[in-house]
Amino acid sequence: MTPIHILGGGLAGCEAAWQIARAGSDCTLFEMRPARPTPAHKTDRLAELVCSNSLKSESENTAPWLLKEELRRLDSLLLRVAQQARVPGGHALTVDREIFAQEVSGAIERHPRITLRREEARSIAEDAITIVATGPLTSDALAEEIGRLTGAERLFFYDSISPIVDAESIDISIAFWASRYGKSLDSSDDYLNCPLDREQYERFVDAVIEAEPVPAHIAEDTACFFEACLPIEELARRGRETLRFGPMKPMGLIDPRTGRRPYAVVQLRQENLRAASYNLVGFQNHMRFGGQSRVFRMIPGLERAEFLRYGQIHRNTYINAPALLTPTLQLRTYPRVFFAGQISGVEGYVESIATGLIAGRHAAELAAGGELRPFPRETALGSLCAYVSGADPRNYQPANITFDLLPVLDESTRHRLRHDKRARHAEVCRRALEKLEEHRSLYA
Ligand SMILES: Cc1cc2nc3c(=O)[nH]c(=O)nc-3n(C[C@H](O)[C@H](O)[C@H](O)COP(=O)(O)OP(=O)(O)OC[C@H]3O[C@@H](n4cnc5c(N)ncnc54)[C@H](O)[C@@H]3O)c2cc1C
Repeated sequence: MTPIHILGGGLAGCEAAWQIARAGSDCTLFEMRPARPTPAHKTDRLAELVCSNSLKSESENTAPWLLKEELRRLDSLLLRVAQQARVPGGHALTVDREIFAQEVSGAIERHPRITLRREEARSIAEDAITIVATGPLTSDALAEEIGRLTGAERLFFYDSISPIVDAESIDISIAFWASRYGKSLDSSDDYLNCPLDREQYERFVDAVIEAEPVPAHIAEDTACFFEACLPIEELARRGRETLRFGPMKPMGLIDPRTGRRPYAVVQLRQENLRAASYNLVGFQNHMRFGGQSRVFRMIPGLERAEFLRYGQIHRNTYINAPALLTPTLQLRTYPRVFFAGQISGVEGYVESIATGLIAGRHAAELAAGGELRPFPRETALGSLCAYVSGADPRNYQPANITFDLLPVLDESTRHRLRHDKRARHAEVCRRALEKLEEHRSLYA
C-alpha cells in the first residue's frame, strides 16, 4: 500500500494520524520539535495549544458547538481528549493545556499503526500520500517546497483580518447602499456605507486611540506591518485626518438621507460565500475583542452589531486554498497531497482539528483505493471545505466556523422562522447532523 506521511504533529496532524490509524492504515507522523522549535510552541509535546486554552462555545445550536458535535460523532481523538482534560470555563470547552497535550502525545506514541519521527520535513515525497499540517509557523525549508509545488512565491503573510458583523444586526435605516462614484471597481456588489458626521468621527478617533491593544502572541507580530495593511489604531495615531483619507474616505459617496457627502464613512462589504455577514473594509486592528465591540458600536448603523469575527493581525502561513484545493482538501494538481490545519486556510483550534480529521479520512480512503466523497455541504465540516476550496481566491482570508458559512435554509422554513433566530440556528444544526448521519451510513 502507498505509504502515508503526515507533516506536523500539531492539532491537525495528530487528528489526521489518528483517523488514518483508526481506518486500519499505517502512517508516519513527522514533528520537528524539539530539535527545531517554533516562535510560539514551548514544549516538545504533540498537539500543543499555543495560546488560549479554549475550544470555544459548547452552547447547543451555536456554530462552534455544531462543528465539535460533528467531530465527536466521527470519533475525533482530540475532542475526546479535550473532554477528559476539561476545566471549568462557563459555556466554553476549556481544557488543561498540559493534560491535553500529554494525553494526545501518549495516544499517538502508543498507537501501533503510527510511527512518530522527530525530524523536520523539508520536502514532500514523490511516492507517498502526504498530508501537510505544519501550521502557521511552518519551517522555512518546507514553506519553500510548498511554494514550489503550488506556484506561490511566498507563504508568509501578515494576516490582516477585518471584523465581520452579522447582516441582520446592521441598522439599514442608517447605513446606505452605494459604491464610490456610483461604480464598483472590482465588479462586486455595492457596499453598505455607515456615515459619520464630524463630531461622531472625532469621538470615534479618540476611542480607537485609547483602546487597549492585545498582547502580541509572538514578538514579530508587533514589529512588522506592511503599509498596505496597517492597523486602524496606527493610522489614527499618525494624525486625526489619516483615517478619513484612508479606509474611512467619504469621496464619491452621497448619503441619500441628507443628500450630502458624509464627513467620513465605514464601508461594509458582503463576502463571497458569506451571504449573511459583512466585512468592515480595511478595519484590521490589534485591539482587544471587548474593545472592538465597544468602539465599533459607536459607528452609526452598527450600534447593535453582532460580531462574528473580530479584527486581528498576526503572522500566518497558509496557501491560497480556493485556487489550489478540492473540497476533499487535495491539491488539484497533485491529488496525493492534502492540506490540513491552519496552513489549509482555516483559522482556529477546532477548525484545524476538523480539517485534520477530514484530510486523514480521505487520505486513508485514497490509500485503500476507495472513492473520496466530500462531506455534505449542509454540515459544518462540509461548509468549511466548501469555503476553503470555493471562496474568492483574489483576497483569501482564513475562516473560523460561523453560521454564515453554512447554506441558508429553504425559503419556506426561513419564512416560518423569520422572527426567531435561535430556532433558525437550531434548524441549521438539526439539518447538518441529519446529513452527517446519512453520510456516515454510506461508509458503514
Ligand atoms: C501564536 C499563535 C497563537 C494562536 N492562538 C490561538 C488561539 O488562542 N485560539 C485559536 O483557536 N487559535 C489560535 N491560533 C491559530 C491556530 O488555531 C493554531 O495555530 C493551531 O495550533 C493550528 O493548528 P495546526 O495543526 O494547523 O498547527 P500547529 O498546531 O501549529 O501544528 C503544526 C506542527 O507542525 C510542526 N512543524 C512545522 N514545520 C514543520 C516541518 N517542516 N516538519 C515537521 N514539523 C513541522 C510544528 O512544530 C507544529 O508542532 C494561534 C496561532 C498562533 C501562531
